[in-house]
Amino acid sequence: MGAAAEPREPSTIPGMSRPRVYLETFGCQMNELDSELVAGQLHALGYRFVDGPESAQVILYNTCSVREHAEQKVWSRLGELAIRKQDDPALVVGVLGCLAERDGVALVKRMPVVDVLCGPGELDKLPALLDNAYRTRRSLLADRLTATDADRRSASQIALQGNSSRRSATLAAAQDSLEMLDLSRATSPLDTIDDDHPTAGAVRKRSAYVRITRGCNKFCTYCVVPFTRGAEVHRPPEHIIDECKKLADAGVVEITLLGQTVNHYRFEHGAAVTIGGVVQPQKGRSYAGGHRRDPFAGSNVTTFADLLSRIHEAAPTVERLRFVTSYPRDFGDDVLEAIRDHPRICRYLHVPAQSGSDRILKLMNRGYTVSEYLEFIDRARGFLHQPEKGRPLSLSGDIIVGFPTETDEDFAATIALVERARYKNCFIFKYSPRPGTTAYDKLADDVPDAVKRARNNAALEVQSRISDQLSREAIGQTFDVFVEGLSRMEEKKRERPAKACGGGVALTIGGNVIHSHAGVASGDEDDGGCSTRAVEAPSDEVSGTTQLSGRTDGDQIVFFDLPSGASADELVGRIVPVRIERVQRLSLFGRLCGRAEPVR
Ligand code: SAM
Ligand code: SF4
Repeated sequence: MGAAAEPREPSTIPGMSRPRVYLETFGCQMNELDSELVAGQLHALGYRFVDGPESAQVILYNTCSVREHAEQKVWSRLGELAIRKQDDPALVVGVLGCLAERDGVALVKRMPVVDVLCGPGELDKLPALLDNAYRTRRSLLADRLTATDADRRSASQIALQGNSSRRSATLAAAQDSLEMLDLSRATSPLDTIDDDHPTAGAVRKRSAYVRITRGCNKFCTYCVVPFTRGAEVHRPPEHIIDECKKLADAGVVEITLLGQTVNHYRFEHGAAVTIGGVVQPQKGRSYAGGHRRDPFAGSNVTTFADLLSRIHEAAPTVERLRFVTSYPRDFGDDVLEAIRDHPRICRYLHVPAQSGSDRILKLMNRGYTVSEYLEFIDRARGFLHQPEKGRPLSLSGDIIVGFPTETDEDFAATIALVERARYKNCFIFKYSPRPGTTAYDKLADDVPDAVKRARNNAALEVQSRISDQLSREAIGQTFDVFVEGLSRMEEKKRERPAKACGGGVALTIGGNVIHSHAGVASGDEDDGGCSTRAVEAPSDEVSGTTQLSGRTDGDQIVFFDLPSGASADELVGRIVPVRIERVQRLSLFGRLCGRAEPVR
């Protein structure tokens, strides 16, 4: 799909002229990427994307089930659609992602308004499912059924991974068609699928996510991810590097590598399986862990450190290479050295601790102790914290409060860890019992909600103070800032949804239209997901000039006013020097310094 090649009329849906699709995304960066890839495929097939559900003929929710709150939002959306479908029985409704996988067919039984159910491991099948759903709905309507009967029937197009992992010892089972979804990614320089805003095609895509691993093998006792996204699987390095190169050629200057435990990435070439000429992703190997260097490193293996170095070398125009999320265990010195020795790898690590109590960490099955966690962050700072060279290390974390049996002492230990870690920002989540997980089955959710809330607020208060202190240290300093777009405040002023350098599908997180890759939900009560990238704090200020927002290498959010005579389009997607003059909560406010022209 690209600006040059007009999307063709969908041959798959007879009688429908470019069906209008609304796709709403909840949850993490992985879901954002999944939505982008799915949207690219559907657009190439002739579907057109709209930025509101009202005019859509197909409504898709890409869901998150990490916490109950995220699921509730989707249930309430589906309830509204059930009412709408009574008047609009041709409407096709799809639930994609983790909720689909977790609830399975029970979801359709509860909500017959849902025609398509597609787990995150089966998204490559979505075009066929939608096509079938369309045909089925049309035949239901053409049948002798009344429209009222039809609106109560689901077209029941279902693709779920179920309990079976995608890979097994057999070659046939090793075939990974989902890899084709990533491989078919569109990287046209002027790519857009935003049909509501066709001129957005003139905006080059400057920031992109690239998946390196899927799934997770950790089985933390509270977490649904190993069940919804399946076993940990590593993509072949050649596929990843090729994707990064293509994105770079298309003008992308910031790439974020994605995985649940990115530092576990490893590809063993001697064990690679090729099917139909395509090297297949490889199941993650489990091993004792606790190493300082990848124990399998060697000429026939691409370790995470190797992968970072190879991307850095292969895509020299990518100014910023990031990765999320890191697992605190098994983070070797080899990776820290790779970050230190490659100037375009960002000095930013998102390393969730989850708790500061060894007892709770054990119940969570995290596989490390508090002192091991602290040893890691000290070691990381030893390698990477170089403020005197203008390269500080910025850390962010996740904490769960109110895990079963958590006492005041356990919570005090968590606060001590937050104080000691001095995160730039930390996402604090109230424990949410998730059916199917070990914690749900074996541990009573015995911390009252009022206590969870109080601990959540107390932890937020501590973190806000630390974030504020760290922000203040930035005053007077000049940072290279990657300009993501107009600030939210600016967008609000103009009364239109944020449109940033990411281009691509109009993504919504937790119901809010977001900058395509800029802001996502925070870990507070309203996020509706588990996204862990600091969100732009609302600013009350109204200035007469145009305000832009961007991020530092350490992922700090920076606002600055567009200098008179400069155009926002010139600066968005560029890295420019900004001198910080003041701070407000998590945000830094500064002035573009030097010249108004982009520095790179
Ligand atoms: N893989 C990453 C790691 O282990 O560090 C985190 C991915 S998880 C999808 C994002 C965050 O959601 C976790 O770090 C955890 O803090 C939070 N989370 C996961 N399950 C949760 C639950 N049942 N209740 C509350 N928070 C949860
Ligand atoms: Fe969930 Fe992260 Fe633990 Fe995997 S490592 S089970 S994704 S919290």
